Amino acid sequence: MTSLPLVFDAPKRGLPPRHLADLDEAGRRAAVTDLGLPAFRADQLSRHYFGRLENDSAAMTDLSPALRDQLAAELLPPLLTEVRHLETDAGTTRKSLWRLHDGTLVESVLMRYPARTGHPERITVCVSSQAGCGMACPFCATGQGGLKRNLSTGEIVDQVVAAARDSARGEIPGGPGRLSNVVFMGMGEPLANYSRLVAALRRLIDPSPAGLGLSQRSITVSTVGLVPAIDKLANEGLNVTLAVSLHAPDDELRNTLVPVNTRWNVAEVLASADAYAARTGRRYSIEYAMIRDINDQPWRADLLGDLLAPRLAHVNLIPLNPTPGSDWDASPKPVEREFVRRLEQRGVPVTVRDTRGREIDGACGQLAASG
Ligand code: SAH
Repeated sequence: MTSLPLVFDAPKRGLPPRHLADLDEAGRRAAVTDLGLPAFRADQLSRHYFGRLENDSAAMTDLSPALRDQLAAELLPPLLTEVRHLETDAGTTRKSLWRLHDGTLVESVLMRYPARTGHPERITVCVSSQAGCGMACPFCATGQGGLKRNLSTGEIVDQVVAAARDSARGEIPGGPGRLSNVVFMGMGEPLANYSRLVAALRRLIDPSPAGLGLSQRSITVSTVGLVPAIDKLANEGLNVTLAVSLHAPDDELRNTLVPVNTRWNVAEVLASADAYAARTGRRYSIEYAMIRDINDQPWRADLLGDLLAPRLAHVNLIPLNPTPGSDWDASPKPVEREFVRRLEQRGVPVTVRDTRGREIDGACGQLAASG
């Protein structure tokens, strides 16, 4: 097993209160028996939280009032308090600002995409894995404030449960719906918070009434390319979708756009993603922010296309979203189209991501969580 270098460890602070979602099934049963209660109470509580998406113990009427108060106090402490939310796209994109137990702020973004021919409706939540981020990519707002701390498993899972609850209760225009996708593309570098991320993934995909039962392929973990962690993830028996934030096909430029490239370069990151793809049988995504006159030259498109053509990869171009303190902006549309054309010419599948949430600073790279 490879352990991650210490440089990725967040500063230590008071731990968040223990929550049901931090524990696996055995752990929940043990926690309940430690309280002198029968183990099945853990399953009952899990069904409320994961199955019915209930966090208000008063609604758990199959438990006596005294019992529900005790269980809620011990295993369902509030982890996320909504400070506010902002909406755009007629309410179908909603960014929530959450306060954690120690006052730390994080954001998540819920997006509902109506069904279109051949595609069912999609409801996606973009969640944070850390408060802040230590990766220091100069075009990303989250990177500018540095890393505050890792989120706990419960704090990650609870963002997803809150999104599933809002969807199920019809709080997003379009009526009650089912959360279908989770992307770890909010604040933070998910693979720098490895063990909590993996535990959260297990809760999200657990098909029992004590888990959320999301499909693995509809969960995407996005990384700057922490090679030892990608390698480790390939051996977890999971097959969630991997996304790699490449942003440049050459080391010279990538060293400046994604500083961790000086540690694991383009070739090493792609080799690790290939091994992940081989292990899981899943195509991976290459994320590439289109930054005017920085990484959008035709020769870079050709280089990227040549690198990716033989690989099980798909390119997601993201028009750069503006961030405070940066003069960079998105590539002009004709430049973007030429970039796409050159990739397609080499047989590389490519999509251009829509930039939902820009108006509320909720698009990729804009999450900064200022109170
Ligand atoms: N740390 C992880 C996940 C968070 S960011 C990662 O880097 O992959 C999710 C995606 O948004 C990444 O591809 C990131 O590079 C991209 N991104 C960051 N800032 C952006 C910006 N200003 N405009 C467009 N995309 C951006």
